[in-house]
Amino acid sequence: MTTPNGRTAKELFENSPYALTYNDIILMPGHIDFGPADVDLTTKLTREITLRRPLVSSPMDTVTEHRMAIALALCGGIGIIHYNCTIDEQVAQVKKVRRFENGFILDPLTLSPDHTVQDVWNIKAQHGFSGIPITEDGTIKSKLVGIVTNRDIDFEPDRGRKLREVMSTDIVSAKKGISLPEANEILRESKKGKLPVIDDQGRLVALTSRRDLRKNRDFPDATKDAKKNLMVGAAISTKNEDRDRLAALAEAGVSVVVIDSAQGDSTYQHDMIKWIKKSHPDVQVIGGNVVTERQAENLIKVGADALRIGMGPGSICTTQEVMAVGRSQGTAVYHTAKAARKHSVPVIADGGISVIGHIMKALSLGASATMCGSLFAGTDESPGDYVYRDGVRLKVYRGMASLDAMKVGGNKRYFTEAQDVKVAQGVSGFVQDRGSMSDLVAYLSQGLRLAFQDAGVRSVETLHAALEDGSLKFELRSPSAQREGGVHDLHSYTQPDQFNQRNQ
Ligand code: IMP
Repeated sequence: MTTPNGRTAKELFENSPYALTYNDIILMPGHIDFGPADVDLTTKLTREITLRRPLVSSPMDTVTEHRMAIALALCGGIGIIHYNCTIDEQVAQVKKVRRFENGFILDPLTLSPDHTVQDVWNIKAQHGFSGIPITEDGTIKSKLVGIVTNRDIDFEPDRGRKLREVMSTDIVSAKKGISLPEANEILRESKKGKLPVIDDQGRLVALTSRRDLRKNRDFPDATKDAKKNLMVGAAISTKNEDRDRLAALAEAGVSVVVIDSAQGDSTYQHDMIKWIKKSHPDVQVIGGNVVTERQAENLIKVGADALRIGMGPGSICTTQEVMAVGRSQGTAVYHTAKAARKHSVPVIADGGISVIGHIMKALSLGASATMCGSLFAGTDESPGDYVYRDGVRLKVYRGMASLDAMKVGGNKRYFTEAQDVKVAQGVSGFVQDRGSMSDLVAYLSQGLRLAFQDAGVRSVETLHAALEDGSLKFELRSPSAQREGGVHDLHSYTQPDQFNQRNQ
């Protein structure tokens, strides 16, 4: 039975004998009396954290390390650093994000006059920046004696040369206590790239840079904390030994942790959430993954600040086939979001997002944000290099429970790493080059604004209000309706690579 203006989500999801995916439903148009620029994509990631874009990158070793987290946070989303690595490596990733573009870099990398040109090249290769303050003993808080920039080492053939012989000593510096606008003014006037900040005794206390200045100007939607550092998340497992990991991440300034578990409603996860909320109350906790109302209620009861929704919809995922447990993502998002809304806990729709329409549908069913793996894995900022296959530029993308990832410890979310026999729940493959994250997020954001406009809603908040009061209407799509909604009946056509500006 159809109705003249569509059906409410309640009618669709609470009466259907089938679980529904994003592709099974379509939104009915609303009334337009505003432009796309009027649409506000601001949303909640957790109880305490607000994002300007509903976008989160998956904690996977082919998706999120510091470059992805920086790029996404600059654009208004947030990255979750994966934990398929040692505690020290994960903490270093978090620190790199926090060190980036924070007005004043409070713990800049420093070297001593006895270090060599090669040491600067190493820092450049590892962290992507040069412009290193040189202090007496090579640590911050000792006397500033010089600075080494690209210009000092670019044409230096002898990499073993001591920095005391190549560093610039005519340093323009600022006194501790200077405001950021004042520091910016000095940078502008001096035309220098870096401005060290020193105390009364000439000891280095901070650094600010022209590049940070530029970033500040270019990214007004950046996700930052009260200290103006970019926010970053990190994943941990439910295992007891990851309490040390959490403590180290908290110390490094992580804003939010994701407890990474394929089936989140476990005693292990309950205990972990309770412990974090007690021992590190400043860290926001995303629990999951869950797909039912009961699971959601259980994690909220023990203190989760947000929930991650999805069991089986991921592009690389074989969980539903192999385990016979899971849920179609549209239904999972609708029911968990409904339960979580009663407690003002946001939910994040995780997995199965391959087009803008999927993000729109996830938000329409009550999600506050979407978590993406494959969508982001082909960008410049994901880990790994591009490869060519049949002339197409690709990047490796693999499930954390694929055999490849499990070999290096990726299966912690599946309670199985101690077992001899490995049962994979994911595959390893390739995704196509999608250019830079800033282009991709701009594309997704503009597409979303247009989708909101078609639906007649101006913000995520009003979308959720319309979902709840039943004014947001949907319809089920038959298989032929889905076919009709795609390109059809052409002899041939060129698939626009909608994400990739570079190849057009
Ligand atoms: P995608 O955005 O559709 O590629 O899905 C990404 C999501 O799949 C991640 O955020 C995880 O929740 C999930 N995932 C990651 N690795 C695996 C796996 O090996 N098997 C099943 N699901 C996975």
